[in-house]
Amino acid sequence: KHKYFVANRINLIQRSKIRELFERASKMENVISLGIGEPDFDTPQNIKDAAKRALDEGWTHYTPNAGVPELRNAISEYYADHHGIEIPVQNVLVTAGAYEATYLAFESLLEDGDEVIIPDPAFVCYAEDAKVAEAKAIRLPLREENDFQPDPDELLELITKKTRMIVLNYPNNPTGATLDEDIAKAIADIAQDYNIYILSDEPYEHFLYDGAKHIPMIKYAPDNTILANSFSKTFAMTGWRLGFTIAPEEIIRDMIKLHAYIIGNVASFVQIAGVAALREEASWKAVENMRKEYAKRRRLVLEKLKEVPYIKAFEPKGAFYVFANIRETGMKSEEFAEWLLDKAGVVVIPGTAFGPNGEGYIRISYATKQENLLEAISRMKKVLEGL
Ligand code: PLP
Repeated sequence: KHKYFVANRINLIQRSKIRELFERASKMENVISLGIGEPDFDTPQNIKDAAKRALDEGWTHYTPNAGVPELRNAISEYYADHHGIEIPVQNVLVTAGAYEATYLAFESLLEDGDEVIIPDPAFVCYAEDAKVAEAKAIRLPLREENDFQPDPDELLELITKKTRMIVLNYPNNPTGATLDEDIAKAIADIAQDYNIYILSDEPYEHFLYDGAKHIPMIKYAPDNTILANSFSKTFAMTGWRLGFTIAPEEIIRDMIKLHAYIIGNVASFVQIAGVAALREEASWKAVENMRKEYAKRRRLVLEKLKEVPYIKAFEPKGAFYVFANIRETGMKSEEFAEWLLDKAGVVVIPGTAFGPNGEGYIRISYATKQENLLEAISRMKKVLEGL
């Protein structure tokens, strides 16, 4: 009988706890999911039209490995127009979402035994990317009293001769936190002083509330930053798999080796639709409408959660998540998430899915209709009142 082998680094990759919960929920009836980290909106019409036109115009061929020049130019222009940052086109690489951008940064910059500082809690893929790169993940705790931002002094203490990269993600998944400019500057200074890369994953940059501003890390440490960004959340294009990375030209050149042979390029007509997304006014109007709708839902969730006993929400300024403290229930995060699914038919994500320091929290996504949010929170209130 054939014996099946798999490489140890693949064995080490954890199955997402989020998916396990979804699988359980999919076997139940009348479940409301506040678990999904994906816009519930359709892609704006002008972008879909651009993709259809591109197909008819013959955008059906192989593309240059770095991406279609029109899109790389549009991305560079976008940074100049929206953020006042000059990005040479050679520093842009079109990727299959921010996921690929992140993977390329880990794989091309880290070697066996290198250390990478990953916040805790943090989005799920970084710790797994580190395993594949055979790098050592050093977790930097984020605390609610610091608004889930890194403490630069604590970061300094974690730096060793082996530290090569630190990961940042603001606006943040799972906490909804944003980054203050003084902290961004302090981290940029540390990265420059110690010659450390910053992988800054910024796919939620357009979803900001109550006057919060986006701080693009590349502005503060241009020679050290690898920026990962995506069309997925901004333009509700998760299934299109379109993103990009911006990094110093030499790094991009090395990333392309891996990208070209292992991953393959994003479909040419999708890249052309990306040009329309960035350049046409209609898509930016759609983004602002989505932002306004998220802003309403965020208010609603924060207001309604105040009536739910034992649950204390951290007030997020960005993304579309609420990270809420559940310690007063006396339950652990995973136990609570399972209990809530069984008792109320509501899916939330346990904070521990994002790292051990997420213990005592749950993540609620408000990328779902207002009526679902109202119903889910009213069910939560009912079962928690009975606790
Ligand atoms: N980074 C963060 C922080 C995310 O939340 C997500 C998706 O949820 C991604 C990256 C992956 O996004 P993409 O669809 O661009 O690959």
